Amino acid sequence: MSASFLEHITATLDTIRADGLYKTEREIVTPQSGHIAIADGVQRRPMLNLCANNYLGLADHPEIIAAAKQALDADGFGMASVRFICGTQTIHRELERAIATYLGKDDAILFAACFDANGGVFEPLLEAEDAIISDSLNHASIIDGVRLSKAKRYRYANSDMSELEDRLKEANKEGARFKLIVTDGVFSMDGFVANLPAICELAERYGAMVMVDDCHATGHLGPEGKGTPALTGVGQRVDIVTGTLGKTLGGAMGGFIAAAQPIIDLLRQRARPYLFSNSLAPSIAAGSLKAIEIARHADDRRAKLMRNTSRFREGMTKVGFELLPGDTPIIPVMLHEANLAQDMARELDRRGIYVAGFFFPVVPKGRARIRTQMSAALDDSDIDTAIAAFTDAGRQLGII
Ligand SMILES: *Cc1c(COP(=O)(O)O)cnc(C)c1O
Repeated sequence: MSASFLEHITATLDTIRADGLYKTEREIVTPQSGHIAIADGVQRRPMLNLCANNYLGLADHPEIIAAAKQALDADGFGMASVRFICGTQTIHRELERAIATYLGKDDAILFAACFDANGGVFEPLLEAEDAIISDSLNHASIIDGVRLSKAKRYRYANSDMSELEDRLKEANKEGARFKLIVTDGVFSMDGFVANLPAICELAERYGAMVMVDDCHATGHLGPEGKGTPALTGVGQRVDIVTGTLGKTLGGAMGGFIAAAQPIIDLLRQRARPYLFSNSLAPSIAAGSLKAIEIARHADDRRAKLMRNTSRFREGMTKVGFELLPGDTPIIPVMLHEANLAQDMARELDRRGIYVAGFFFPVVPKGRARIRTQMSAALDDSDIDTAIAAFTDAGRQLGII
C-alpha cells in the first residue's frame, strides 16, 4: 500500500471532520423499534427512536419474525445463486405476485435493494434516442441509474411543473422517441409528496411515461398503504413503481419494480443488478410477504402514525422550531448549519432521543437539519417526551 495514497485519504477524512460532516455510528443493542437501547460502555442506554424508516412499527412484529423463522427452517438460509441460475424459490415468485397485486400492476421483480432497482431500471428500457426527465431532488440511486442509461437526460427543479413542461417540450424538439418522467413519490429529505396529478397530466399531454420511486410511501401512505399514486388519486396513470422492503414493509432489505408484464419480462432478461447479484434470502422474502399482508390491513397503525405526525408537528411549531411544511411522517427540523445539526443531535442523544443530523452531501450546504420520522411504534407520551427534549436542547443551544 502506497504511503502517499493513505496520506491523501487521511487528509480527505480530516477535511470531512473539519467541515463538521463526519458521520459516526451508534450501536443499537435491541431490535429496531420506537424504544431502543444503545451500547454505552458496558451499560445499555434506553432511547426513543425518531429516525427510523419504521413507519408502521413492523420491524419487530412477532408475526413477521415468525414467518421469517418458518422460512429459515423450510427454505434454508441462503440461495447462493442469482435468480435465473438456481435462485428462484416459490417464495420469491409469491412475493413478486403479492407486490404486483398490492400495487395493481401485472407483475413485479425483486432486487437486493431499491438502490439496485433504480440502478437497473433505466438502462434496459431506454436507449440513446429516448429521454429521461428527472426531478432535481430525486434519490441518489435514481441519479446513478439515469447515468447508467444511454438515454438523453433532462432535469427539472424540484416539483417545478413549468420547468417539467419546458423539459418535455425540449425533449420533443430534440426528437425523443420515448420519454420517461421520474420522481420520488415522497422527497425523503424534505418529506413532501410529489405533485403526481400535475405530472401525470403533463405526461399525458406530451406523450411521456411516469415512474415513481415510492420508498417513503409504500405501506403507510394512501388507502391500504398503496403509496403516493393511490394517495393522490392518479392510481394506474403511473406506469412504473419502484419501492423497498427495507422501510415500512418490515424494514429488512430488498427492492422491487412493479409494472406492465413486458417491462418486467425485459428487466428479468437485462437488468444488470438482477442478473449479476444474489437472490433475496428466503427468510427475508417470507417476512416481507407477511409484512405486506399486515400493512394492507393496518388502518389502525396508519391512523396512529398520522396522529403522532400531527401531534409532533403542532408541538414543535408551538415552541418555535422551524419545520419544513408537509403532511407525511417525515418532519425536518431546520438548523441550516451542519455543526449546529450535529450539536443538536448530540444534545438530544444526552436526553435519550435518538435522531440524526443531516447535512451535505445528503442535503444542500446551508440546509442542514434533523430529519425526524414518526412511527406507529410511538405513543402520545413518547411524542410529548420528544418535544420536551427538543425544547430543552433547543433553548440550551439558543435555537429557540
Ligand atoms: C431508501 C430509498 C431508496 C433505497 O432503498 P434500499 O432498498 O434501502 O436500497 C431508494 N429511493 C428512495 C427514495 C429511498 O428513500
